[in-house]
Amino acid sequence: MTEAFCFSDELGPEKIIEIYDPQSQLRAILVIDNVAMGPSIGGIRIAPDVTVEECARLARAMTLKNAAAGLAHGGGKSVIVADPAMAMTEKEPLVRSFANAIEDIGDYIPGPDMGTNEIAMAWVKDAIGRATGLPREIGGIPLDEIGATGFGLTVALEAAEDFSDLRIDGSRVAVQGFGSVGQHAARFLCAKGARLVAASDTRGTCFNPDGIDVRSLIDFKQTGKPVSEYTGGEALDCDALIDVECDIWIPAARPDVLRADNVDRLRTLVVAEGANIPATAEAERLLAERGVLVLPDFIANAGGVICASVEWHNGTESQAMSVIEEKIRANVHEVLTAARAQDKLPREAAIDMARARVLQAMSFRKTN
Ligand code: NAD
Repeated sequence: MTEAFCFSDELGPEKIIEIYDPQSQLRAILVIDNVAMGPSIGGIRIAPDVTVEECARLARAMTLKNAAAGLAHGGGKSVIVADPAMAMTEKEPLVRSFANAIEDIGDYIPGPDMGTNEIAMAWVKDAIGRATGLPREIGGIPLDEIGATGFGLTVALEAAEDFSDLRIDGSRVAVQGFGSVGQHAARFLCAKGARLVAASDTRGTCFNPDGIDVRSLIDFKQTGKPVSEYTGGEALDCDALIDVECDIWIPAARPDVLRADNVDRLRTLVVAEGANIPATAEAERLLAERGVLVLPDFIANAGGVICASVEWHNGTESQAMSVIEEKIRANVHEVLTAARAQDKLPREAAIDMARARVLQAMSFRKTN
């Protein structure tokens, strides 16, 4: 066995490709984890320090996320080894060089990720004819503009009402990270009768137990100012968001913000994970012991990838929203029902569900 197979297990990865182009100085990794459910969808990340192992883990996360969302897509991921902050004029030749290198790898459909955006996806589409997360002008559905992920989180919370004391109407919401996911989640929840009591960004927290005017806070944030300078609430430091008493706590910023050393400060009924891996495994276990319901990231924040899939299949914006609603509602029900029946954490039940779907799809494939 060579080192290349050290990540292999019952699901994959099916292909690990290392790419070097001496002319453009492109160095890139592509991992296609599993395509039993269909061609893989996964982002192109630009990062200076990503290993084959990390790329393989990210590809596996996409296999499980896409399977859990019930999409006809497997999981893949690619990384261009470079500085994500480089100028667009330098980025374009690298991204085009990568696209040309993967032209014949038809079971990988690239999407945007850290360091790439809809413009980079337009270059990929121009070069090889396939990409998701495209600009509206060439058939894309702008998922951050329409709030696909924030909408999906709201649907997940509605479905969770049947499994907890949560009632969105009249609930108090705290959002960590008032960016694309956080703003839209607050907007959709408040439209259903919730009130935003706190929101934070890297520079501080805005707190008002009587409720913050969400539209006005979004407009304020979009001028480039920190939420703590908004006059409709009290300014607190960034870390204070975790102490705010609420019914729904939404991490929508960074990984590992809830850990064993701070999770006991949380006073909420439900945590709806907008960010990817915002809580450590230990923190999720401690929350479950305290009776706090955690809606796991790859179930609750799948709105973005569902939107990308609808775009790929030539669907419209309104179709994307109704598919997000249908799939996330059904998945939350299935996961929470299984978690309750089998006395498992929601994340454990979600992983079981996603793996079973992938294995079932694999059983339909020819073995030779
Ligand atoms: P974004 O850059 O638009 O917003 C992130 C916000 O978090 C910013 O306002 C930033 O100031 C704030 N922030 C960063 N660190 C913080 C901290 N320590 N405390 C408080 N605020 C902090 O990003 P986004 O697109 O909203 O994504 C947020 C998270 O959700 C990321 O983890 C992303 O991977 C994940 N996610 C995004 C989508 C999507 O559709 N955009 C889909 C699935 C998952």
